[in-house]
Amino acid sequence: MLASDIERTFDRYRDLLEDLSFPEVRRWKEADPRRKAVGFFPVYAPVEIIHAAGMLPVGLAGAGDRLDIQHADARFGSFICSIIKTTLELGMTGHLEPFEGLLFSSICDSARNLAFVMKRNFPQKYIDFLHLPHNPSSPASVDFLAAEYRRLIGQLERIGGDYSEEKLRAGIALFNRQRELVRELYAIRAAAPHLLRAWECYVAVRVGNVLPVEEHIALLEQVLAAAPRRDAKKRDSLRVVIEGSFCEQPPLEVIRLIEDAGCDIVEDDFTLAQRWFTEDVPAVGDPVHALAEAYVNRSVYSSVRHDFRKPRWLGLAEKIKASQADAVIFLMAKFCEPAYFDYVPFKQQVELMGLPHLALEYEEKLFTFERLRTEVETFVESLVFD
Ligand code: SF4
Repeated sequence: MLASDIERTFDRYRDLLEDLSFPEVRRWKEADPRRKAVGFFPVYAPVEIIHAAGMLPVGLAGAGDRLDIQHADARFGSFICSIIKTTLELGMTGHLEPFEGLLFSSICDSARNLAFVMKRNFPQKYIDFLHLPHNPSSPASVDFLAAEYRRLIGQLERIGGDYSEEKLRAGIALFNRQRELVRELYAIRAAAPHLLRAWECYVAVRVGNVLPVEEHIALLEQVLAAAPRRDAKKRDSLRVVIEGSFCEQPPLEVIRLIEDAGCDIVEDDFTLAQRWFTEDVPAVGDPVHALAEAYVNRSVYSSVRHDFRKPRWLGLAEKIKASQADAVIFLMAKFCEPAYFDYVPFKQQVELMGLPHLALEYEEKLFTFERLRTEVETFVESLVFD
């Protein structure tokens, strides 16, 4: 990829992410009528296992502002985050037809309820709820999760999956490579934000939700090769960490307006699934056990993963220090309980470090961004002219 082609690439993948017909999933399936796709609701799913069953793992991310809610409101109360409603609406309007299966996990009450509402409304689909361990300090957690993963493998085989341990080891190596490249991309962005804007990095990473991992690896390699050769001017901007957008994703426009208002987003928790492990998962030995062990012992901190061995705010503190951030923006989905529960301890940690912070709220369907833009501009100006 030429450095001059990189903008067109980001625009193309941004358009792909906005297409609710999942064209890449359909394309992948058309190549062989036996192929099957399994969608997974954020934040994390063992994509390696889905891949090892010969299926395409696809990260679901709601419908943004591109779908009117006509059916989902009747099945959920009012005070629910929008990704829950738009995901159900995607199902009720036939948009999830390319998926033979849908996976949910124990991230919050809303996601748990959605799993069972989906199950009731789509009895013909394989819909499952993964119980991820909530007490990693227990010695039983790894075995518990390995058993849950073996149950998942059995279910995928039941709907036509062709699983083998060998394929799982190969899949782990592939996804390790994908995560390594994503880490490199984030490193470039943090070191030289003018070479890779946050919204571009976001698109390049998030498109991995819908592309086969092999294609995503190729794309990341191309972007990594082209970004350092770009002819872009350094900006004098505030280095900020974004925290709170780990599940429902903010509209792309919000990411862009934060950058345009004078911030370099040097770290974030967008599309966390693709950065889930802090180290490679061993691709040798018992691969199911290795994946379970990695979840328990090598996961990133997240408001939807409980780990009493290390408070989440210390994870945020490390992230702030490593990225040399000047400030933190808490960017939280409206009605997202895990994000709001963590806001107070996170805020206390940031204040302890003497850093300024700003809290913003979004939902998928934001039609005017002026209020948010003004808040960010005021925040930046108050720091720059202090
Ligand atoms: S955005 Fe928050 S509340 Fe909504 S499903 Fe995700 S974690 Fe749960």
